[in-house]
Amino acid sequence: MSHCTNPTVLERISDADPRADSRAEWLAGEYRAGRYPTAHAHYDLATEAFIVVAQQGGASE
Ligand SMILES: [Zn+2]
Repeated sequence: MSHCTNPTVLERISDADPRADSRAEWLAGEYRAGRYPTAHAHYDLATEAFIVVAQQGGASE
């Protein structure tokens, strides 16, 4: 969670889902193909969930 500054969280998938990792990556790809070219997946330790985030204000990953 270090390379994003105030990202927009698009999706949150609980780690309880055994396929959460691949679902998050797939969703990030869907968002990238759409309105959020900077969308990508993270694991959020605080909530034990995979999140799909988009960087605000341009792609500076
Ligand atoms: Zn990021």
